[in-house]
Amino acid sequence: MFSDYYMPVRVLSGKDAIFRNKDVFTKYGTKCLIVCGKGSSVASGALEDLKTALDEASVEYTIFDSITQNPLTTDCQNAGQVARDFGVEYIIGVGGGSQLDASKAIAVYASNKFLSADDIYTGDFMLPPLPVILVGTTSGTGSEVTGVSVLTNESGRKKSVSGENYYAKVSFADPKYTYSMPMGVTVSTAIDAFCHAVESLLSNKSGEQSKMYSKRAIPSIWNALTKMAKTNELPDKGTRDELYTCSLFAGLAINSTGTCYPHTLGYTLTEDYGLPHGLACAAFLPSFVKRALEYKNAEATEFLSMINMNYLEFERTVFSIVKADDISMTDEQIKAYCERWENVKNFINSPGGFTVTDAADVLSELFLKN
Ligand code: NAP
Ligand code: ZN
Repeated sequence: MFSDYYMPVRVLSGKDAIFRNKDVFTKYGTKCLIVCGKGSSVASGALEDLKTALDEASVEYTIFDSITQNPLTTDCQNAGQVARDFGVEYIIGVGGGSQLDASKAIAVYASNKFLSADDIYTGDFMLPPLPVILVGTTSGTGSEVTGVSVLTNESGRKKSVSGENYYAKVSFADPKYTYSMPMGVTVSTAIDAFCHAVESLLSNKSGEQSKMYSKRAIPSIWNALTKMAKTNELPDKGTRDELYTCSLFAGLAINSTGTCYPHTLGYTLTEDYGLPHGLACAAFLPSFVKRALEYKNAEATEFLSMINMNYLEFERTVFSIVKADDISMTDEQIKAYCERWENVKNFINSPGGFTVTDAADVLSELFLKN
């Protein structure tokens, strides 16, 4: 078994990390672009803290606040132009996975003026991206620690870019910025992190280190999710802190293994049915675990013992959280999705080597309604 670990991001975590490490802001220049959305950066208090820290460090900034959920390559390209116009030396992304992923791409567009929006996927650009600093506000994607950026292309399809160009230099991980997440976002981001940990654990690429990260994350996230499902109450601050820590561990796990087929299939439920990313991936988690019980029985059994449930209890609980009963697909639709998935590495890495035919079966079983 060979493992591939690469994690060059400096993670500064804990309360008031931004104020305790202001030297970071002068390390990469004196002018930066802040990339955020309109809601989370303000609601979380992260933007206000960041502006104060940058003022105190005498760093000039301009703000691009038009990054929406499932960020568009075209918006990132436009932000790259703003970065060039303002002559910034680095990028700071503030928000959930959408803004963090967008910032990584904006850093590429900013230094590569002639890169067209969707050509970012070709990896065919000359100049290295500007340095990126991230400030997370959700406990889900782990984008703070991954060399991945998930973007929506000009055809409306979600596709990731990854590799050395997509790591931040520094990530601030202060869980207090996650306290403002409403119930829906808290659940969806927690279950996304849970999918990362489980998909990585049961991946054909999992290794000793990635398994350690997954096992650190799985029990705590599951406990928080089942408690929220039972009580319909938001987690207390201690649990929120733990969820953020777990999302970073789950991010470290996928950073070495990648995700498996629940993420690939999940993109369709976000693109065409508007299901938030975490719930969309989780819709395929029961079938994934069932498959692992067949092809990686020892690991899958160990996973179920970690969450103290048998398979049927697990399936029932996941579906009670995801609530995707009203989604329906036609045969033609399923066929069209499957045409996109020849040689997808997430399939090859799934237990038993998932195929396009398997994908059609899973989609039909869950969503084909004649
Ligand atoms: P998100 O799309 O960034 O945000 C979801 C919603 O939550 C938005 O309405 C956002 O508001 C709001 N929000 C975020 N933080 C908040 C806070 N602290 N308080 C109140 N509201 C808050 O959600 P996400 O799950 O973090 O990111 C999902 C994206 O990451 C997807 O595109 C997914 O494909 C990608 N992803 C990336 C990786 C990776 O390794 N890079 C891994 C998995 C998934 P505003 O938008 O208005 O600010
Ligand atoms: Zn995810």
